[in-house]
Amino acid sequence: MAVHRVTLIPGDGIGPEVVGAARRILEAAGVPIEWEVCEAGAAVFRKGIESGVPPETIESIRRTRVVLKGPLETPVGYGEKSANVTLRKLFETYANIRPVREYPGVRTPYSGRGIDLVVVRENVEDLYAGIEHMQTPGVAQALKLITRRGCEKVIRLAFELARAEGRRRVHCATKANILKLTEGMMKRVFEEVAQEYPDIEAQHIIVDNCAHQLVKKPEQFEVIVTSNMNGDILSDLTSALIGGLGFAPSANIGNEVAIFEAVHGSAPKYAGKNVANPTAVIGSAIMMLRYLGEFEKAELIENALLATLEEGKVLTGDVVGYDRGASTTEYTDAIIANLGKKPQTTSVRSYKPLQLPKVSPELALVVPKQRRCIGVDVFVESTQLPEQLGPALESLLDGLPLRLKMISNRGTRVYPPTGAMPEYVDHYRCRFLLRDGAGELDDAAILELLQRIGGRYRWMHVEKLQEFDGAQGFTKAQGED
Ligand code: NAP
Repeated sequence: MAVHRVTLIPGDGIGPEVVGAARRILEAAGVPIEWEVCEAGAAVFRKGIESGVPPETIESIRRTRVVLKGPLETPVGYGEKSANVTLRKLFETYANIRPVREYPGVRTPYSGRGIDLVVVRENVEDLYAGIEHMQTPGVAQALKLITRRGCEKVIRLAFELARAEGRRRVHCATKANILKLTEGMMKRVFEEVAQEYPDIEAQHIIVDNCAHQLVKKPEQFEVIVTSNMNGDILSDLTSALIGGLGFAPSANIGNEVAIFEAVHGSAPKYAGKNVANPTAVIGSAIMMLRYLGEFEKAELIENALLATLEEGKVLTGDVVGYDRGASTTEYTDAIIANLGKKPQTTSVRSYKPLQLPKVSPELALVVPKQRRCIGVDVFVESTQLPEQLGPALESLLDGLPLRLKMISNRGTRVYPPTGAMPEYVDHYRCRFLLRDGAGELDDAAILELLQRIGGRYRWMHVEKLQEFDGAQGFTKAQGED
């Protein structure tokens, strides 16, 4: 019997109690695992390790490639970045899989509707790339970075997951109607990749409507694939539909490494009290067993969990109230006692191995046949009104191949004026395009333009306006023709 080596991070707050419960159940079920118990989180930050993840833990994960972890805290005053996000990024776990299902014996306003869906969240890109700048003393910017490869990997994984779990429909939730290039890329890649999965119904849905539909009719969804920020919000919503964070497991999947953890945090108010619900971590451990190919053991434990919830004799405080609830230990004992039992009213889905998408190591994601720089956006800090700033910038263009196409303020065209009445802030985007529309704008002209603008104004950001195979690689301002 092959023994699996797994890195075990007990984590902070309720982490050691709930992770300990999952470990006891796996051991009682006879799963052949050797644990490498490692540290990360609050205690590590306090030792002065700024990432919250010590080198021994990173070494262990490099060896085992599989992690079961508890929640990690970033204590106030230590470190700037969360150790969770660090772990996800260090090992490029690009997909966060968050399943929710209705549990027997756990009453919610949705009981009886048969909720059984998975949110597949892109896990490393989007606003979580964490690239932020103060552009003026009063204007902040975060870059929303979305890559074709990032979209393709997570979307393929969502379709593969649907196949592995016998699900028939995948929704892609985006804000492509507003963010045409970033969220729009996810929608376009989804529509392309869907062609390769004719056995699965593919539907795009605008993310705000997705939230609305999830509350109204959640049983219509099977798999929802979405970008990082959307997925963060939607998956907390979906966990609330089935009884709360105590029931929401997750898997962070990468090409090389997978990290299994509950969606919830360290719930400090319950730490050390032996009252937390360990179901979310137990569910994460069940997902880990399937990832390791231990399908029978996964089913054995899932059946025992469902049977325990169905019996309803031993339930934790989040389900029945903390005055009457069983302890974490009693609930875990009840699941162990039920190993070998099957639930009467519910069943375990049948799973096949998940095929991870193959990823090309090439750095260039898309190679266009033609590309051309046709202009430049220069972001300027100024307290002038647009009708002063516009002519002043136009007067700087003598001898340059550029014309001032427009100026926008927070995305709305304000010069030439449109007749609208926006509020202004001291942060203008000034769009310059090639005067005659032909040829290519070279760096020398851009540098000369910046030199001239810099003589009169503070500029803080420059963005080339490019065309790729004839398609504009930038969007228009509100009101720009
Ligand atoms: P949280 O720890 O998830 O707790 C929020 C609430 O959810 C709890 O007060 C409790 O609700 C309920 N809850 C969560 N897990 C539960 C469980 N197993 N059993 C029963 N109830 C449970 O969120 P937070 O208070 O916002 O965050 C606390 C710390 O955890 C923060 O430092 C945060 O950064 C960190 N965090 C870590 C992770 C991670 O490691 N992946 C994720 C999220 C947060 P009631 O109060 O209604 O009883």
